[in-house]
Amino acid sequence: MFELAERITKLPPYLFKDMDQKINEMVKKGVDVINLGIGDPDLPTPVKIVDSMAEAIRNPKNHHYPSYTGMEEFIAAIGKWYDQRFSVSLDPKNEILALIGAKEGVAHLPLAFINPGDIVLITSPSYPVYNSGTLFAGGEPYFLPLIKENDFMPDLSSIPTNIIEKAKMLWLNYPNNPTSAVATKEFFEDTVDFARTNNILLCHDLTYSEIAFDNYRPISILEIEGAKNVCIEFHSLSKTYSMTGWRIGFAAGNKEAIKGLGLIKSNIDSGIFQAIQIAGIEALRLYEESNEQIKEVYKRRRDIMVQKLQESGFTLNKPKATFYLWIPIPHSYTSVGFAERLLTEAGVVVTPGNGFGRPGEGYIRLALTQNEERLIEAADRIKNIEL
Ligand SMILES: *Cc1c(COP(=O)(O)O)cnc(C)c1O
Repeated sequence: MFELAERITKLPPYLFKDMDQKINEMVKKGVDVINLGIGDPDLPTPVKIVDSMAEAIRNPKNHHYPSYTGMEEFIAAIGKWYDQRFSVSLDPKNEILALIGAKEGVAHLPLAFINPGDIVLITSPSYPVYNSGTLFAGGEPYFLPLIKENDFMPDLSSIPTNIIEKAKMLWLNYPNNPTSAVATKEFFEDTVDFARTNNILLCHDLTYSEIAFDNYRPISILEIEGAKNVCIEFHSLSKTYSMTGWRIGFAAGNKEAIKGLGLIKSNIDSGIFQAIQIAGIEALRLYEESNEQIKEVYKRRRDIMVQKLQESGFTLNKPKATFYLWIPIPHSYTSVGFAERLLTEAGVVVTPGNGFGRPGEGYIRLALTQNEERLIEAADRIKNIEL
């Protein structure tokens, strides 16, 4: 009786219904399934951050509608963090916006800048919300494949002129989910240049800037000279501090983009619960000490898992950042077929690479979001499969 709107029916099909069903059946049967499919940290939020919210929640001052754009103190903490971490100075009034998680901002931004038929350039494979947000705004996604031969960087010179003319936005995400690739400063410089030349809003998702290893420190695209003229950057406390459930993030950069996104948001939501913002202030204040421990845990897991998978014959290097391993699979399999084998024969859940876009076919994504013991168990079970 109630037909779904076209914007819903245009979403890509959900590819993993069969797999989800198999997982459920196995769990019901009592199989010990190890889930390495989800990008959700198993680690708890650091205690000091939890304590700050526990205290804030008892203060009735925090029980009201918060500011649409973010508490002054939270915005100031974000500004200070950007300055200390990236040497980027931001105008707190016009260049920072608090978000109910990065996802929310990523999904809403196209509503502010995309008219039906406008093109949005999106790397693929990628976080699915760049695409769904585009479709909800009536935009047309144009996918830029991320392949190994290009170090999982988009080839901007391959985009046809007629596409560039209609393009209004470009999405980038480095360190990258799902490929775990990282970008060089030169790449960011070229992309800022490309955006400026073609009058394209460059949107950078920097969610994984603090999950990086071996002294590698990801940079902000706002470090590039002139970037603020064309770039908006998205950030999240979710991965940095294991705070996925809290729903807190922010956007920074170009003031027209920040204003446009703010306009959309003020008509949809009413800001982040203040007690959560107070926890966010504490998180940013403690970022070195909290984040250091979290990074150390992922680094150890990465080292163990990469070595074990290499021993089993997989070709992969240690990623410099993110908690994902992007693993090429044997040529005789599809991504889904391979993931199904890992599930049925090893009880290990991974994400088929094509779930993030067609160029992800031939890969699986494995998230290091279980403890070392479970990861070792998963790797040992995978080793025993006859491939
Ligand atoms: C996890 C993730 C997000 C979502 O972050 P939230 O702040 O939890 O909404 C956004 N982008 C990428 C690439 C992610 O992996």
